[in-house]
Amino acid sequence: MTTFPKSFSAISEKVLCDVPPPFPHPAACENCAGRGFLTGFVVAHGPYLHTPPLGKGEVLKSVDDPQYVFIWYTGKSIAGDCPTCAGTGKAPKMAEQKVYSDV
Ligand SMILES: [Zn+2]
Repeated sequence: MTTFPKSFSAISEKVLCDVPPPFPHPAACENCAGRGFLTGFVVAHGPYLHTPPLGKGEVLKSVDDPQYVFIWYTGKSIAGDCPTCAGTGKAPKMAEQKVYSDV
């Protein structure tokens, strides 16, 4: 299990982050879009234009590229609980907003 940093975007550049879907609901955690977990890919080698040979324990990942259509990396997939919501997928409790000020 990987411990992700507090901010999803703070993960180092050697990790290709799987971007969560758009923020779906005000009650969902913004960091993981309500999924409760984050995923990514730790790069061992690449990018390559063609599928490279794999090292021990490595898998392939293709990434869309505007110039070459696809580029390839070797490495390993990672996943872990979202540190912002501790895996619940829920946003921190929002304070109830008063419609009118107290009289
Ligand atoms: Zn979360």
